[in-house]
Amino acid sequence: MLNGIRPDPDSPNLVVGIVGAGTMGRGIAQIAVLAGAQVRLADSCEGAAMTAREQLLATFGKLVEKGRLAKADAAAAGERIHACDTLEELDGCHLVIEAIIEDLVAKKALFSALERIVGAEAILATNTSSLSVTAIAAGLKRPERVAGFHFFNPVPLMKIVEVIGGLLTAPDTIKYMIALGTHWGHTAVQAKDTPGFIVNHAGRGYGTEGMRLLEEGVTTFFTLDKILHDCAGFRLGPCELLDLTGLDVSHPVMESIYHQYYEEPRFRPQGLTRQMLSAGVLGKKVGHGFYRYDAEGKKAVIPDDAPSTTLPPSVWLSRARPALAERILGLIRQSGVPLEEGERPSNNALCIVTALGDDATACCVREGLDAHRTVAVETLFDLTRRRVVMTTPATDPVYCQMARGLFATDGAAVSVIRDSSGLVTQRVVALIINIACDIAQQGIAEPDDIDHAVKLGLGYPYGPLAWGNQLGADIVMTILTNLLEQTGDPRYRPSPWLKRRAGLGLSLHHKEV
Ligand code: NAD
Repeated sequence: MLNGIRPDPDSPNLVVGIVGAGTMGRGIAQIAVLAGAQVRLADSCEGAAMTAREQLLATFGKLVEKGRLAKADAAAAGERIHACDTLEELDGCHLVIEAIIEDLVAKKALFSALERIVGAEAILATNTSSLSVTAIAAGLKRPERVAGFHFFNPVPLMKIVEVIGGLLTAPDTIKYMIALGTHWGHTAVQAKDTPGFIVNHAGRGYGTEGMRLLEEGVTTFFTLDKILHDCAGFRLGPCELLDLTGLDVSHPVMESIYHQYYEEPRFRPQGLTRQMLSAGVLGKKVGHGFYRYDAEGKKAVIPDDAPSTTLPPSVWLSRARPALAERILGLIRQSGVPLEEGERPSNNALCIVTALGDDATACCVREGLDAHRTVAVETLFDLTRRRVVMTTPATDPVYCQMARGLFATDGAAVSVIRDSSGLVTQRVVALIINIACDIAQQGIAEPDDIDHAVKLGLGYPYGPLAWGNQLGADIVMTILTNLLEQTGDPRYRPSPWLKRRAGLGLSLHHKEV
């Protein structure tokens, strides 16, 4: 017993009520019952709980066919699910999880009704994604037993659950829910009751910065996706992701989080997605979003431009940032193009600069180079599959072709983008890291939990704080400082968490004692 009253999470006596037998309620019921709990499913729509039970039995049957579940265990799990006709049948539950419509009034009314049905010690949990747990609990007789228990879709596959304490939630309630989530096979992370909790808060940077890059005309939507996929390792580019989620869902969430944080510039959405939403260009579900989709939902492939075979007569590489220059030296050498060793470029050389939060123009002006022959190159991220060349507004197209040819001699793809402070990848990744630093600074979650939640909930290649450590807190700091200086946009102001740790040479996981 964790608190002397409720059965332990692994006890066969634990009775869990689930209200809302839709997508999420069904998924939660599945993991609960397979972990050994007795589950009572309820729904306001007549017959919905029974249908959900039948769907769960069918799922168990498929798991048995695939050899993932023993026949006897499937049968026993089926026996443990009860479809309720009325809410009153939840009397006797040790815990009730609601997964009903995302509406504060409806959730408050449900919890108020449940308070009259379940025992005084039963926990009331909400799977809300966007409402305040504190607000849901407000007005109840015992708000200390209310917690957020936020799963992701599909519940059995997304192995993360955020446990959210409202302002009045008792530590014991949180402790129990963390133990329960863990027993059900998920990584349970604790978060404060703030808009977006951890995952939906930390994920604000990716889409909004992607849209901003498009609105600045830095590149096309498909090149943006290719760069972030190939160089930074995101599974889906921001446009592919928005198409998949649907703008009818994503755009309102972007606006809601932005407003809930009182117009915090870091979360500012862009007009592009609002316009697409108005036009009904919602994404995959309607066959048309950023991409076009066929009747089977297959995305149209947009190939890269044919590679350039034009090579420059010689290359001059800026040594203003020696560590960054070092990262592309090997690529230039293996191209066979003569690399100039002089302090200054010769009259016809292609000039290459290494941008870090600044743009090609700023590097060119600072170093007194000929803008017609200058391009910047991304050096910080994976250079194996794709290289990113950034032109100044004055770069001669012939020199641009030479740069494309230079970096394609080993068969890698080359994307050319227009001038942008921080290119594409630096901007997007630095913003994600900075938001995670703010989450840590505000004590919304512990640094390790932030990383676990983002990796499991969003599928990013690294946890954002680990990513910051890998790039170097001082490098991320430089990118953001230069972005802030060049754009004047407070969106890029470095988080105090980052600033202090970069200044002291500490890890971004470092916790104050
Ligand atoms: P859904 O529409 O699939 O299911 C909701 C179910 O709740 C329906 O069966 C409906 O009949 C029932 N319902 C509605 N009002 C009710 C009430 N007052 N009493 C009892 N039953 C009621 O919705 P969903 O996608 O499963 O989402 C449920 C909750 O989970 C929402 O709060 C949502 O924000 C949250 N959530 C959803 C996702 C997701 O990706 N779908 C992810 C995380 C959290």
